[in-house]
Amino acid sequence: MILVSSCLLGNKVKYSGGSNDNELLMRYSHYLTAICPESAGNLPIPRPPAELQNGDGRDVLKGTAKVVNKDGKDVTAHFIQGAKNILDIVKKHRVHVAILKANSPSCGKDVIYDGSFSGNKIDGEGVTAALLKQNGVKVYSEKDLDENTLQRIIAMYWEA
Ligand code: SF4
Repeated sequence: MILVSSCLLGNKVKYSGGSNDNELLMRYSHYLTAICPESAGNLPIPRPPAELQNGDGRDVLKGTAKVVNKDGKDVTAHFIQGAKNILDIVKKHRVHVAILKANSPSCGKDVIYDGSFSGNKIDGEGVTAALLKQNGVKVYSEKDLDENTLQRIIAMYWEA
């Protein structure tokens, strides 16, 4: 099983109620399993955007950072629950690889927004990306992929 951020596959699950259609991934969607950590954490669609404050996803999991939405509400528990629910899928299906949306407070693997809601980005991991990495999942973002790389991932990890 190859997990992919649901919004990249055209599903309207992002905070705005829209999607992040990725043409390459959508062409190969037959091989991909859509997951959305924020939906899995019982957050509604649409919802206010959220950013990490005082650290990144690794720090959220340690309890030293939090996730706050643009209305000032602490939504950390939703983000942690969503990440844990995705980890349950990983363990149940022995998942080794995930392709996650860049820059997201849940799914970002290298870069996240800095918590100021000003569009500034910093190095860091989203909450789900961090938890999956800590559990041995190889995490890619859509920005890492060209068609050859995606075909190689499918050849290595997809099972009918
Ligand atoms: Fe997409 Fe991940 Fe955000 Fe869900 S949590 S909308 S899958 S980036």
